[in-house]
Amino acid sequence: MNQKPKALLSSVLGIALLLAGCSAPAANTNPTEDKLNVVATTTMLADLATVVGGERVTVDGLMGPGIDPHLYQASAGDVSLMQNADVVVYNGLHLEGKMGEIFENLSGQGPTVICIEDGLHESKLLAWEDDNSIHDPHIWFDVSLWKDAAETVAEGLSQADPDGKGDYEANLDIYLKELDETDTYIRDRVSELSKAQRILVTAHDAFQYFGKAYGFEVRGLQGISTEAEAGTADVSELANFIVERRIKAIFVESSVPTKTIEALQAAVKAKGFDVAIGGELYSDSLGDADSGDDTYILTVKANVDTIVDALK
Ligand SMILES: [Zn+2]
Repeated sequence: MNQKPKALLSSVLGIALLLAGCSAPAANTNPTEDKLNVVATTTMLADLATVVGGERVTVDGLMGPGIDPHLYQASAGDVSLMQNADVVVYNGLHLEGKMGEIFENLSGQGPTVICIEDGLHESKLLAWEDDNSIHDPHIWFDVSLWKDAAETVAEGLSQADPDGKGDYEANLDIYLKELDETDTYIRDRVSELSKAQRILVTAHDAFQYFGKAYGFEVRGLQGISTEAEAGTADVSELANFIVERRIKAIFVESSVPTKTIEALQAAVKAKGFDVAIGGELYSDSLGDADSGDDTYILTVKANVDTIVDALK
């Protein structure tokens, strides 16, 4: 019998929200909503969860396009979004460098936590610079590793929502085939370059997995994390390398300020050689909706197109 006042109150609140031009968060508009609420850290993982989760999930991504995950600090709102989610997906391998403690605190609480790192065999991982105990997080640039990531997401979603297992596995199967086609597309494009042309110089060291998978020698001006800034000695050393190898183009990245690569280009010019800026690569984030490259598959295809067109 006290349902009526409650209903009245909620409709008054609803009207107040409408009048204020606000919309309540999707999770609260319908408490009987039976979709799985998934929160993913990066744009790559939000896309992956959306594809594998299909109709059964709603996905919130914490980081938008162009955001650098190495430096990303979670807000109080992010933390509460994760605490209230059914599933949280993160990359691991120290990609979300400032969020480690948050993930530790989350496990054992409500949400099912999917860590992509846990599904990757150590033999497939590359060491971070000279330290074999720390691994390079940029696994998404090797499509075969992204297939492993897709399987990890399908398993985690099935754990959180056993009724959906068949759906998640069906979505996964379709996606794995699309990823195989993407891998073939990348290899076909790379085959347009001679071996000597396959040298990739970028703003930070995000492309080692790409290099290993597709046969490129890779140099990043900054290290694996963007936290460490490039010094003048790094710039000069890399400039010498570019002059010696007569590299045609170097690349800026969508989630790293362009000034470091511009400084490198200037240092090369000072040594009497001209290197072009071959375009912008998506490194630690997908493209935005305006770019049209707002899925994982479109992003990695756009990258290889940019690389091959500039180096050939
Ligand atoms: Zn990175």
